[in-house]
Amino acid sequence: MTPDQVTPDGAGTPTDTHFGFRTVPLAQKQRMVDEVFHSVAKRYDVMNDLMSLGLHRVWKDLLVSKLRPPKSERPFALLDVAGGTGDVSFRTVEAGGAGTRATVADINGGMLGVGRERAAAKGLADRVEFVEANAEELPFADRSFDAVTIAFGIRNVPRMDKALAEMRRVLKPGGRCLVLEFSRVDVPGLDAIYDTYSFKLIPGMGKMVTGDAESYQYLVESIRRFPAPEVFAQLMREAGLKRVDWTPLTGGIVALHSAVRI
Ligand code: SAM
Repeated sequence: MTPDQVTPDGAGTPTDTHFGFRTVPLAQKQRMVDEVFHSVAKRYDVMNDLMSLGLHRVWKDLLVSKLRPPKSERPFALLDVAGGTGDVSFRTVEAGGAGTRATVADINGGMLGVGRERAAAKGLADRVEFVEANAEELPFADRSFDAVTIAFGIRNVPRMDKALAEMRRVLKPGGRCLVLEFSRVDVPGLDAIYDTYSFKLIPGMGKMVTGDAESYQYLVESIRRFPAPEVFAQLMREAGLKRVDWTPLTGGIVALHSAVRI
């Protein structure tokens, strides 16, 4: 049983998981997550800026600077799992040279649709491809990508262990796996402010901007249910990834996890 499958009181079964603070059958979580992102897709990006006060841009830039796509024409293929509207992929191809290409894989057609429109508007449609796919069963060949990323996506995937194993499978040996995800605030005082902001303000902000408070209630609850960084690091190791490490960012609001496939 993975930590994601344990119920809040620790009395979970392998067939249960959680959707925010609710315990739900594992088989139902994906449908519920899909409803959330269908509902918010059109306003997802503007809400990200508002909710994080623009910080998600800084965190994604740090991820890309750690990825270091080559500046030359050397081919470099990124797979961005649960890539949504394309942020990480756009930043990666913009930071890299002419040989850098990205594939956004996401289960949600609504999020991908917004991503395709953004790629066209940025003139990046020939360097960023959008593929509808489940992270638990990636439709790509073994050892086909130079790097694999997932940003704010893994906590939404019902079987995180399967997704991590798939991310390892499609990586070339020596390739880097980077996971950006909410984490545990470790600065005294900031935790109380962060809790108040998350639970008292974000759902209301979500209602104003997207007309949907519930999806943002799920968001803040799912952040609290995500395992501590050392527990998630162990899941990465169990998926066969090596040199697993993480860096807390912004007082632990977010962590950047990294690993390689040997
Ligand atoms: N990575 C993007 C970003 O940082 O802006 C989007 C993150 S968004 C919070 C989470 C994304 O995970 C959504 O686009 C959702 O559709 C996707 N997702 C959820 N479950 C998935 C799954 N099983 N396979 C692939 N994508 C999934």
